[in-house]
Amino acid sequence: MKKLLKRCGWMMLGLVLCGLWQSLIVPAIAIAPLPPQPRLLAQGGAAASTAAFVEADQLYRSGDIAAAEEIYRQLKPEFADRAVSQVIEPIYEPASLDSADLAYWDAAQGALANNQTSGAIGALQQLIAAEPGFIAAPLELAQLLQDDDRDSEALEVLEQAATIHPYSSDIVMAQVRALADDGQHLEASIAARSFAILNLDHPQAGEFRAIADDELNAFTSGQNLRNIILAAANLTVETLPDILDGGFLNPGNIFNSSGSILNAAQDIEELVQKVSRAFADESELGALLAEEYKQTLSLVDDPEVVDYVTQLGLEVAQLMGRDFDYEFFVVRDNSLNAFALPGGKVFVNTGAILGTRSQAELAGLMGHEVAHSVLSHGVQKVNTNGLIENLIEPLVAGVPYDSVVTDLLRAQYSQSQERQADILGSRVLASSGYAADGLRNVMATLAEFSSSSQTNSLSTHPASAERVEYLEDLIIANGYNRYALEGVDRHQVIQARL
Ligand SMILES: [Zn+2]
Repeated sequence: MKKLLKRCGWMMLGLVLCGLWQSLIVPAIAIAPLPPQPRLLAQGGAAASTAAFVEADQLYRSGDIAAAEEIYRQLKPEFADRAVSQVIEPIYEPASLDSADLAYWDAAQGALANNQTSGAIGALQQLIAAEPGFIAAPLELAQLLQDDDRDSEALEVLEQAATIHPYSSDIVMAQVRALADDGQHLEASIAARSFAILNLDHPQAGEFRAIADDELNAFTSGQNLRNIILAAANLTVETLPDILDGGFLNPGNIFNSSGSILNAAQDIEELVQKVSRAFADESELGALLAEEYKQTLSLVDDPEVVDYVTQLGLEVAQLMGRDFDYEFFVVRDNSLNAFALPGGKVFVNTGAILGTRSQAELAGLMGHEVAHSVLSHGVQKVNTNGLIENLIEPLVAGVPYDSVVTDLLRAQYSQSQERQADILGSRVLASSGYAADGLRNVMATLAEFSSSSQTNSLSTHPASAERVEYLEDLIIANGYNRYALEGVDRHQVIQARL
């Protein structure tokens, strides 16, 4: 726990370095508990605007949606026009391609008809570079690469295509199957679950959800984890017998970092079982980690505040279809930050309540965090950052999880994980009945702080301004409603209690 305290001690310098939402790192002192002032104001000053929001919220709650929307529209101007949207429109038919792109497609089909695979691959690559919106090209290219035993290249093509076309069941299904075939069960599960949540009303949503569960089970199976653990220990099934002959693992490897030499055969099996159990029940893993972490934090115990945050969290969580033992905590910390541990344990700073302007904004922030949890990003972090070895030691020796929590908090999410959480967070916000630009507005706040900050360390974090633009494109492209309930009134009541 000392390590964690030491790292969190940096907060004293005004920077939060422990939050899982790395992009939400803002100078703590920059967010004083000011009265809420909706940023997208019409004329008349902050007070008049706040009063107008409150009026609109009341109309909305009373069922007069049209009157509420009229006021919201006056208070929230259109997004600024940009020359280039980051959202690429899908093209389904070759006939919709322009003539130069169609020539690539025809060349690929001609090459295929003559069994010239490399020619077809080349033409398809040129077509994708020229027109990334054409759905059939990456599907066909990935298939050709897989047939040619170029699996990692096929996966790259599909990942890029799935980033561009998160709503295409064909592309995401091809990606899920390719990942599963490659033994990347956790990634396959996440890709499938992400599609199911993003496309709540899609006829195949249930099918994707079932695949997500199956692939997660495949990841947490003893056999799969045995391979992962052996790899983490720099062992292979082939070298294991030699080591077992000696009865012990090499003292230089990870299993004895606590100073005790373990009996290999027995202990590896024990480890596999324990890690498997820990990963199989993310709620329990999250509860263990949260228990450790809570000891280092000052938590708000005002039931009205905690209930408020819990209710918002559950509202977005129920749209994500993952049956966790959700728990929401409010941390006394005035930086605009929040983070999620595996299994639906979400921590929200008081600074996030004070730095957001409405229920919609806080719900957007929580949608982002819950998405990290629901998509097993914490487990993925453990798996991809070599942190599995840190989990092994507490599991075997029964020592506290503090080092695991510390490392989890320090390891940044990848850009694609952040984007996934942004997209799903906004998607569920749009479905929850709150204004769909809540998360976008939080990002805008962060972008303002980032640009006004003199702190160099901020430059290492994903640019919020870019995410603002991306989220705006997403909202426009999907017709998400920005003029649903804002919830300034209720939010102010809670802010006043902090
Ligand atoms: Zn995040």
